[in-house]
Amino acid sequence: MSIQLDFRTLSLTLMLFSLVFGLGMFAYSREHAKFSGIKTIGAGYFLIGGGCVLLGLRDFIHDFASIVLSNTAIILGVILIYRGLFNFLGISLRYERWLSPTLVLLLAAVLYFYTFHVPDVNVRIRALSVTFAAACFIGASGLLQHREIHSRMAANLLIAMFLLVGAFFIFRWVWSFHEISPDDFMNSGLLSALAIIAGEFMVISSSFATTWMASNRLQDELSKIARIDPLTGIYNRRAFNEFCDIEFSRALRSGTSFAIIMCDLDHFKKVNDQHGHRVGDEVLKRFAALIRDRIRQHDVVARFGGEEFILLLPDNGTGQALQVAEQLRAQTAATQITIDSHISLTLSASFGVAHYCADDNEWSAVLHRADNALYAAKNQGRNRAVYLPSANRELAS
Ligand code: GH3
Ligand code: MG
Ligand code: MG
Repeated sequence: MSIQLDFRTLSLTLMLFSLVFGLGMFAYSREHAKFSGIKTIGAGYFLIGGGCVLLGLRDFIHDFASIVLSNTAIILGVILIYRGLFNFLGISLRYERWLSPTLVLLLAAVLYFYTFHVPDVNVRIRALSVTFAAACFIGASGLLQHREIHSRMAANLLIAMFLLVGAFFIFRWVWSFHEISPDDFMNSGLLSALAIIAGEFMVISSSFATTWMASNRLQDELSKIARIDPLTGIYNRRAFNEFCDIEFSRALRSGTSFAIIMCDLDHFKKVNDQHGHRVGDEVLKRFAALIRDRIRQHDVVARFGGEEFILLLPDNGTGQALQVAEQLRAQTAATQITIDSHISLTLSASFGVAHYCADDNEWSAVLHRADNALYAAKNQGRNRAVYLPSANRELAS
């Protein structure tokens, strides 16, 4: 049984895929201009599509266009696909910059020579196979450097695609030594037809993976937005709750403890009343930065709402958290905040501290104690840190 795949028809379908996906990529990049590289990928598809048009017009147009130009355009298209992908993923491959143009020029020269000076279809097939394989391996090696955790699956799909297509072209190259040189490339058998199918595979999988990676990135941005307080740039209450859930399960599992510190700026309303809301906002930003810069890397600070902030200190023994709160209180009171070079303010804040204890059924019990401790700090005259232990519910400051 012999499988008959018509080379011209296949070229036509690859052309169709490439042009449609190329258009799609251009439209997508218009809507998401912040994603770099997508337009380059689209341009790559257009070149492949254009190359296929020329390829399909073999015998109707000059050989220079249907052999040299067409294949050069297709290899250039492949290069633009991986360059676009590198760009999108922020990958820079130094040797690729000179290697890719060299490949294109070499291929064009070899195709020209073996079409017009010493016509030889087999040498042309070998040159094409080696060049396409090299391009695919460059693409795969660049993508192996990707570091984007959220796009790992999509990037792995691309690496697999480039390796597979590259391996196919190596096979095509080796096989060409066992076959008699066909006098016409258009009738050069199943493997040449499969080369076009490999091109279709590349266009389809690269466009699919790119949109997959783009949607991952959008999703990542959205989840960041949903967890960050836009004014201060620190976590918001929603993110804080998630951290507490994790910490609470860890405490249940491994018997570790954690502390929650609630803090509230003292007489903050006065700042707004005296200097306006804009200055009030700036003070909130500076205060958030002050806390963020002074806590350990695995501690979490979030804006609880208004001028209230909250801290989660994992792995924190009794007493340590009160010390942290006391240090933050002292720092706050000692910091002079200068805004617009003529407004100078000193503020104070009150802190309520509580620890997780074995009899707490949920982490909100700790939060509740921290809130009570904060209330006590306010009642005791502000600018102080109060610790509320769970066992006897006594106040200590
Ligand atoms: P206390 O010492 O009892 O905490 O007094 P306070 O004035 O800080 O507390 P109060 O709850 O009376 O006022 C809080 C103020 O915080 C009122 C509100 O205008 C201000 N505020 C809340 N959120 C924001 C914000 O995002 N920006 C600005 N500029 N002000 C805010
Ligand atoms: Mg306040
Ligand atoms: Mg308040």
